[in-house]
Amino acid sequence: MSDKMNVAELFGQNVFNDKIMRERLPKKVYKELHKTIDDGKELDPMTAEVVAGVMKDWAVEMGATHYTHWFQPLTGFTAEKHDAFITAPDKEGSVLLEFSGKELIKGEPDASSFPSGGLRATFEARGYTAWDCTSPAFVREDEAGAILCIPTAFCSYTGDALDQKTPLLRSMEAVQKQSLRLIRLFGNTTSRKVTPSVGVEQEYFIVDRKKYLKRKDLIFTGRTLFGAMPPKGQELDDHYFGVIRPKIAAFMRDVNRELWKLGVSSKTQHNEVAPAQHEVAPIYVQCNVAADHNQIIMETLKRVAEEHGLQCLLHEKPFAGVNGSGKHNNWSLTTDDGINLLEPGKTPHENFQFLLIIMCILRAVDRHADLLRESAADVGNDHRLGANEAPPAIISVFLGEQLQDVMTQLISTGTATHSLKGERLHTGVKTLPDFTKDATDRNRTSPFAFTGNKFEFRMVGSRDSVAECNVVINTIVAEAFSEVCDVLEKAEDFELAVHDLIKELAVKHQRIVFNGNGYSEEWVAEAERRGLPNIKSMVEAIPALVTDRAVELFGKFGVFTRAELESRVEIQYEGYAKAINIEARSMIDIASKHIIPAVMRFARNVAGTANEIKQAGADATVPMNLLRETTQLLSETKMALAKLEEMTDTAAAMPAGKEQAEYYHRKVCAAMEELRAPVDRLEMLVDKEEWPMPSYGDLLFEV
Ligand code: ADP
Ligand code: MG
Repeated sequence: MSDKMNVAELFGQNVFNDKIMRERLPKKVYKELHKTIDDGKELDPMTAEVVAGVMKDWAVEMGATHYTHWFQPLTGFTAEKHDAFITAPDKEGSVLLEFSGKELIKGEPDASSFPSGGLRATFEARGYTAWDCTSPAFVREDEAGAILCIPTAFCSYTGDALDQKTPLLRSMEAVQKQSLRLIRLFGNTTSRKVTPSVGVEQEYFIVDRKKYLKRKDLIFTGRTLFGAMPPKGQELDDHYFGVIRPKIAAFMRDVNRELWKLGVSSKTQHNEVAPAQHEVAPIYVQCNVAADHNQIIMETLKRVAEEHGLQCLLHEKPFAGVNGSGKHNNWSLTTDDGINLLEPGKTPHENFQFLLIIMCILRAVDRHADLLRESAADVGNDHRLGANEAPPAIISVFLGEQLQDVMTQLISTGTATHSLKGERLHTGVKTLPDFTKDATDRNRTSPFAFTGNKFEFRMVGSRDSVAECNVVINTIVAEAFSEVCDVLEKAEDFELAVHDLIKELAVKHQRIVFNGNGYSEEWVAEAERRGLPNIKSMVEAIPALVTDRAVELFGKFGVFTRAELESRVEIQYEGYAKAINIEARSMIDIASKHIIPAVMRFARNVAGTANEIKQAGADATVPMNLLRETTQLLSETKMALAKLEEMTDTAAAMPAGKEQAEYYHRKVCAAMEELRAPVDRLEMLVDKEEWPMPSYGDLLFEV
């Protein structure tokens, strides 16, 4: 496919975007709708009716036959239920195409099978989806035809959040309100709105689909449960930023085409550290749209890969021993008139505000490090975080040289006159140096790094929604802003109060700042000395959601009620247990039905060979030793298998909840490792022709 692409024409072709709305909606309706989109005014039914009709006509022109409320329940995936636009046939047997305002605004999927963590009593299993009109509707085309997708939030009958989007929208409101309060204090009277902006870098692996289909572990769990390391791994770093091979380039081209059509501004693509690993990143947009777009990116990667005879692996650790995949959540705060509140700025006055904001963020991250860590907790991410590979499980903030320098001065000199890099400066904070952007962000190991004019949270797992981490970032920053606003609104001398606050926060929260190598052993010890939490696994991270501090935080800003938090805890434990259970059962299945029979066939061959050699009167030591080694490992495998079966049965019989999840984490995961060890050694012994599945080498180097 080397057809020319007209990107400008293609871009947003399948999106019911502002341009289409302006062209097609009556002026009054367009204005009304914008009051909802921009100011959060409730949408009136009349407006909704007109919008729905126009949206339907547009979608039908695009070839759509169905519409769906597209939402993100707590399964980690998106969900949809398709409804055709048709009405009941009339007497003559003809149908009309219809889509009402009601259908646009509210959907009622049968919600009983989505995880709710006890929020929906059984007598009221209904759930509602509600249109998020700040994220545009789009027409998605695939084998199923063209479908109008309406981004929605998903709630219970009583309004409890059952999804990722609802709390995200609530947290955006919280941070918006507190940010406005703050910038008003600093004299900004013109900006009307502050929105978190997010750009998500997405990592993934691409393997050959035929080979993928021969790996039951990849099919069932998304990762390899067995697999010996190939002779070559990523040690040469020859893949990172290397030339993209034609087959992959063709795939990326089609991914981009599809994304652009859907209004996702896919911008950057490159090879990643591991062989067969790649990355794609769009240009940043409003937080909730970025979360939706990231879901679209993941869906598109998978779909287009299949069309190319490839398989996209989004798991955090598809292969042991090679780099895993994550996503980087780049976050900043932008006003409606285009001011980035994290931009260091040119005048001391602006720097003043900037510094306070940075200190607030330090406070937020320090105070709620456990929540941030929890937001990145995910079954697959347990293989990455803290496992001596991108980022450590300890939360810290990287500020970069310039900011660090300013902070050090602030802490050591307080209000006194001081100088920076030999330059004479006026009093303390009032005359802050003009920070220029760091030319390079040299620190790649920090989980929360200031990179010029944004913070980059690098812990999120590749498969996970970015909604969770943004809910946390938005809310904890809202809290820190509200605290300083409480003080500043009462201050007699504003400038002095700001100065004191900056100093106070810097001193109090400097422990969260770390500019060194986050992968090092020393950091683990140092972090412990500083009293920073080091939460090593998902199971240990979950309780952070329901500490008194968390309940108070989320309650204060109306992001989560206690009941919602408790339900999420329950869902996470259950989700963890289910995922590990599937992994363990898959291992058991593969080991007993595929690996052990293959090893026995191999052993019989070797025995035959040894006998024949012996009968011929020659030295059969080599095949005999091979046979001994093989059968020894075979019996180790058998024993480990029995143990894993027993542990998994025990775990599965336990009541769902914390204890069960912990058992899976401590016992079942360990038993899985024990089974994997002899099998991976056997893979190195057994004839390649006999081995029942493609090897790491086949998967990683022969795409
Ligand atoms: P990196 O050095 O991490 O590769 P890039 O400049 O390529 O940084 O940006 C990575 C992601 O960050 C992109 O999605 C980009 O759009 C996004 N980004 C850039 N500036 C901002 C900002 N001010 N706020 C939020 N995201 C941003
Ligand atoms: Mg980055």
